[in-house]
Amino acid sequence: MQISHQKVVTLTYKLTDHTTKEHIEETTHENALTFLYGVGGMIPEFEEKLAGKSAGEHFDFHILAANAYGEQDPQQIAMLPANIFHNEDGKFDDKMFQVGSIVPMSDNEGNQLRGRILEISDEAIKMDFNHPLAGTDLHFSGTILEVRNAEEEELAHGHAHGPHGHQH
Ligand SMILES: [Zn+2]
Repeated sequence: MQISHQKVVTLTYKLTDHTTKEHIEETTHENALTFLYGVGGMIPEFEEKLAGKSAGEHFDFHILAANAYGEQDPQQIAMLPANIFHNEDGKFDDKMFQVGSIVPMSDNEGNQLRGRILEISDEAIKMDFNHPLAGTDLHFSGTILEVRNAEEEELAHGHAHGPHGHQH
C-alpha cells in the first residue's frame, strides 16, 4: 500500500540540521512516529516527499527552513520585565530561570507559547519566542514501517490511533 491521502503512516526517522549536520532527534521502532497523512498535522513538504512510498522503503531528503518552521523572526524576540518571573517571595527564581531555559508562557489572548531565555538582567529578561527549529534547514532520513487505511474513527478525530498514535 502506498502513502496517500488519509492513510495512516508509521515510520522511523533521524532528523539532523542540514547545514551543520548536527543531530536533532531520532525515533526508533520503540517510539516510531505514526500519523494520519494529508490532514495538515505535519510539515506539508514532509508529507509531499513521502507520497507514494510503501512499507520498507527508505527516505532521505531535506526541507529548507522557510518551508519547515520558518526563518528566525526578530519580532519574536522580546524584552520582558524581570518581575513577572518573581516567585511568591518577590525574588527571581534563578534555579528555574537561566539562560537557555525554556519557559512555558501565555500571551494576552491566552495562547500557549514557549520562550527560551537569551539574557537575564535585574530589570529585564530577553526571550526568544521563535520555534526552536526556526531558521534551521531540516534533513530527514528514515524508513517507512507501515502504511494502512485509516479507520472511520481516526478520520473523524483527524489523527491516528494505536500504539504510536493517540491513545484515548
Ligand atoms: Zn482520536
